[in-house]
Amino acid sequence: MGAVLGRDGVLPADLRGLGRQEVAGYGYARFVDEKVQALEGDPRRGFTLTTAEGSLAKASVVLLACGMVDIFPDLPGLSAYWGSSIINCPFCHGYELRGKPWGIFVHRPEMLEAAEIYRTWTDDLIFFLEPGMEPDPARQEDLAAKGFGLERRRIRRFLGDDAGLSAVELEDGSLVARKAMVMWPHQKHCDLIASLDLETDAQGSVVVDQGFRTSRGGLYAAGDLLYQGHQNVNTAMHMGNLAAASMVFDLAKSRR
Ligand SMILES: Cc1cc2nc3c(=O)[nH]c(=O)nc-3n(C[C@H](O)[C@H](O)[C@H](O)COP(=O)(O)OP(=O)(O)OC[C@H]3O[C@@H](n4cnc5c(N)ncnc54)[C@H](O)[C@@H]3O)c2cc1C
Repeated sequence: MGAVLGRDGVLPADLRGLGRQEVAGYGYARFVDEKVQALEGDPRRGFTLTTAEGSLAKASVVLLACGMVDIFPDLPGLSAYWGSSIINCPFCHGYELRGKPWGIFVHRPEMLEAAEIYRTWTDDLIFFLEPGMEPDPARQEDLAAKGFGLERRRIRRFLGDDAGLSAVELEDGSLVARKAMVMWPHQKHCDLIASLDLETDAQGSVVVDQGFRTSRGGLYAAGDLLYQGHQNVNTAMHMGNLAAASMVFDLAKSRR
């Protein structure tokens, strides 16, 4: 994990473990390591959360922080290098891969719109265009003038070894040497969020007010499910912090 002040290089699971230890130390919290399957109720009656294993929990207010579910293209080798040499965020992982040959997986227009950003870390850039992602002629000229490669043959699989990605194999069998690939998967909400019928914006992100209150009273939200693009740990923690303050404030007001 990069770009988290004071925690550079810490594994996500270790950060979560540290957080749990700290919270447990206050003696208020109980952790239930089960998937919440259903969330029912309203602010007047309170909420009931039911897990897939059948556990029940009651709550006056609920913070939704389920993150998002990434939707990956079906490409062999992707899972082996995901998070190490196939990365979703150059701000988090670009420094470690600086100066190496990078590929950019273009299956959404934003990857080409942001093309110049990747030069921050390397000049050796090839954009692998998925069907329908052809830039207009002016932009093609612009990208070529900047020395960016455009590859229209589709990627068939990713190749490498324990050291990381070494090449991509194209649909005609030819190999292109690449040490890093940037891929920004499409995302969807987890089943629980999808079941709650919350207001969402044009991108499908859950809409909240300044106090991180969703469109359903008593339900608050924080983290990746609120926005698209440059999702990161600091922002999730920041939102969670502000949401928690709102929850305490609203509960205190309702008990006056
Ligand atoms: C490969 C990769 C590398 C990344 N590297 C970095 C990095 O280096 N630095 C950085 O700042 N950011 C990085 N990010 C982004 C960062 O991980 C996210 O922005 C951040 O974790 C979002 O926090 P969140 O709490 O919204 O969601 P998450 O961290 O996704 O947490 C959501 C949790 O809710 C759980 N959950 C979901 N549904 C349910 C349910 N129904 N019941 C119970 N639990 C449920 C999930 O299992 C998960 O544990 C990376 C992301 C990816 C994919």
